[in-house]
Amino acid sequence: MRIANLNGRLALISDGRAVDVERASDGRFTADPQAVYERWDEFRAWAAGATLAEGVAFDATELGSPVPAPRQLLAIGLNYRAHASESGFEAPEGLPPVFTKFVTSITGPVTEVALPKDGHTDWEVELVVVIGERAERVSESDAWNHVAGLAVGQDISERVSQLAGPIPQFSLGKSLPGFTPIGPWLVTPDEFDNPDDLELRCSINGEEVQKGRTGDLIFTVPALITKLSAVLPLLPGDVIFTGTPAGVGLGREPQRWLAPGDVLESAIEGIGELRQTFDA
Ligand code: ZN
Repeated sequence: MRIANLNGRLALISDGRAVDVERASDGRFTADPQAVYERWDEFRAWAAGATLAEGVAFDATELGSPVPAPRQLLAIGLNYRAHASESGFEAPEGLPPVFTKFVTSITGPVTEVALPKDGHTDWEVELVVVIGERAERVSESDAWNHVAGLAVGQDISERVSQLAGPIPQFSLGKSLPGFTPIGPWLVTPDEFDNPDDLELRCSINGEEVQKGRTGDLIFTVPALITKLSAVLPLLPGDVIFTGTPAGVGLGREPQRWLAPGDVLESAIEGIGELRQTFDA
């Protein structure tokens, strides 16, 4: 199953067309895309049995984030060995580095993003996990049962503010307006042959800059849910950015930053793609 946020309303995607959930369910489920995760099991059961009228065609520019207002967004640093190495850090053991991207930075999949003045703005394609059922002290074998679905995310990062000061402060430099595109929709785990091994790609103006596989994650999706939910409960509709593979601008020789006019495309196998255009 695929669900989307079409012009602010929850939609089911069927054969590339969008069915409005509030209308199709006669009001049983509201149009609010964030509210559906509170009733995820009930919604899944309804969607599996519903006879849907033909949906409407839409353009990707009409999509918002399938998870527009999570109560918690946890983002993982250094979760691929080659990226930890290019960033100049040891690969983490035990617990991964965790930060947040503040929720005002969340957008849909196709956007224009203003580059901060005097900033060094970088790219990080990431697999995004959205929680369905509340997770608290969950075992790895049970972890996928707590996942509503997967989406593509871009952890756009301004490195000057991220690395300024006596200790790096990841959250602020990654939370400028438009710095957290998520989409293009949410795909449920059962849609994948193997949801633990998906190819991620990222390109700038058509030139590939990142290519990796989630099979190379140091902390897998189940491991992240286990480790995070041992510390705090993960709530329905919460978001986990799982980390980025190698190939970011920070790790290049010479370093490279996004420039006005650049088009950044981020894709994950079996999900879809994001497209960001950058302005001064
Ligand atoms: Zn990241």
